[in-house]
Amino acid sequence: MRPISSIAVHHSASLFGDAAIIRGWHTAKGWKDIGYHKIVLNGQRTSNGAFKPGECGAVEAGRPEAMVGAHVKGHNTGSLGICFIGNFDLKRPDTDQLLGGARQIAEWCRAYKIPSSAVFGHREYSGHESNHCPGTLFPLDELREMVHNLLVDANGGGGQARQNHVRIGATLIPYEERGGMAWAPVRAVAEALGAKVDTSDWPEIVVTAGGQA
Ligand SMILES: [Zn+2]
Repeated sequence: MRPISSIAVHHSASLFGDAAIIRGWHTAKGWKDIGYHKIVLNGQRTSNGAFKPGECGAVEAGRPEAMVGAHVKGHNTGSLGICFIGNFDLKRPDTDQLLGGARQIAEWCRAYKIPSSAVFGHREYSGHESNHCPGTLFPLDELREMVHNLLVDANGGGGQARQNHVRIGATLIPYEERGGMAWAPVRAVAEALGAKVDTSDWPEIVVTAGGQA
């Protein structure tokens, strides 16, 4: 393994894309391969395709990790590059996408023995301060905290995985702790509260409180 001392976070600055599309853009510039080592999908592969919620946060391989990337000029040696699809000058990334990226980064931190504090946004590298990348609305501190929590959890974090639940009256709904956050199923919680859940217009979810028409 080549020595790695930092992980650089980028955005594609496009609303859609995947590893194949970005590889096409980069090789068209005369590069030998895609510049990044991993791509985190946002669920929108093409400009006119359907949004696929199941692909939001999925990670695709880019350039082999053993190869020096082409993503932060002057800092490519000793770094790995990960690119989140999306333009985060316009909006925040979805939590699923952040979490998918955080899992990949935590895996790298373990493999290359570097801490979550070695994760930087592109613009945080010296000489790149005027660059927006990965977007002014990308929560870099939150991403580092997610990575930190994933690393702590994997190292034991005080014992076994926590088995927790939400209690609503007599109903116990299990929830999962991931990345320092609690994830409970919307439908189970809503129905335990007497509400109706309609997902027929997915990704919009309509919850109608009990008693209302
Ligand atoms: Zn960048």
